[in-house]
Amino acid sequence: MTTVPTWVFEGTVLPSGDTARVTLGPGEIGELLPGRYGVPGFVDSHCHLTMGYTETGPAMLGEEFANERLGELAEAGVSAVRDVGGNRDVTLKLARTEDDNRPFVLAAGRFLAPSGRYFPQMYTPVAPEELLAAVEAEIADGATWLKLVGDFPEVGPDGSIRGSQVGPTYDLDVIEAMVDLAHARGARVAAHVTSDRVTDLIRLGIDSVEHGTSLTEEDLETLGARGGAWTPTLSAGLTPGPNETPEAAARRKARSEHVATLLPLTEQYGVRVLTGSDVVGTVAAEIDLLVQHGLSVEQALTAASTGAQEFLGLTGTGNLVTYEADPREHPDVLTQPAAVVLNHRRIS
Ligand SMILES: [Zn+2]
Repeated sequence: MTTVPTWVFEGTVLPSGDTARVTLGPGEIGELLPGRYGVPGFVDSHCHLTMGYTETGPAMLGEEFANERLGELAEAGVSAVRDVGGNRDVTLKLARTEDDNRPFVLAAGRFLAPSGRYFPQMYTPVAPEELLAAVEAEIADGATWLKLVGDFPEVGPDGSIRGSQVGPTYDLDVIEAMVDLAHARGARVAAHVTSDRVTDLIRLGIDSVEHGTSLTEEDLETLGARGGAWTPTLSAGLTPGPNETPEAAARRKARSEHVATLLPLTEQYGVRVLTGSDVVGTVAAEIDLLVQHGLSVEQALTAASTGAQEFLGLTGTGNLVTYEADPREHPDVLTQPAAVVLNHRRIS
């Protein structure tokens, strides 16, 4: 018989800022954790557990890579992830099986995109007439989210992206049927969208806007009225690529300025902001970037923890990340937890 230890935290619970004594475990008394500031677990809401970068660009990887990635995320205080596209055999299996030794996984399964509109090595294209069957199959295998690629640049068969102009993937009537089907089955739709097509996709009922670099204030209003979410993935969108051209740098700067006008409006419109590492970032880096782009530290911490837990319906308890210093004053401490408790187990 294994005994579950009890951990005790005394200090300031964030993002609420309440002073509290928190016990994690079956007992009333237990071992006191180091750290005076605690967050009840972070959520990586836009994660690709099976997507890595190799010398030849993005690559689809397997179970071993996903488990390594989950281990790294756990050490950083992440207690749940939403995988938004990748190797469906691996991610849906993770979503179907619970394991206290790793973060909880919600998964979308495969990327839903037609031929020539996503990185070819990352997906098997789904023709428009096959889309509904693909949605059914992902849900039957454990997907609670679907990942729609709503727009994308044209991609050559060698994986080269042709130009910076993105174009539509599926027709809107096809997307509408897909969103309706997902909702009828109790699943939700996360849509990759960077163009102004986002307005139509929100109208059709998508639940979370991924990237959303062309959102407008009006879009936020429509999305927020329905209780939708926006994962701006700032690490992915605003980190300069290698050999960045002056034009690309100018586009990146414009994106950054645009996001900075929108983020401060999200709360008033009821849009749930989420943090997502995508392939290049971390939750801590996203919090930092959200604050640089107009959210308060409390709002950014909410996006990365309790806000995401509520939006994604995560009910797990027994998660806590503690810090010696106040992350509201010293956001850099977010990369150095004093202790991490995952599912009642202290892992660092
Ligand atoms: Zn992504």
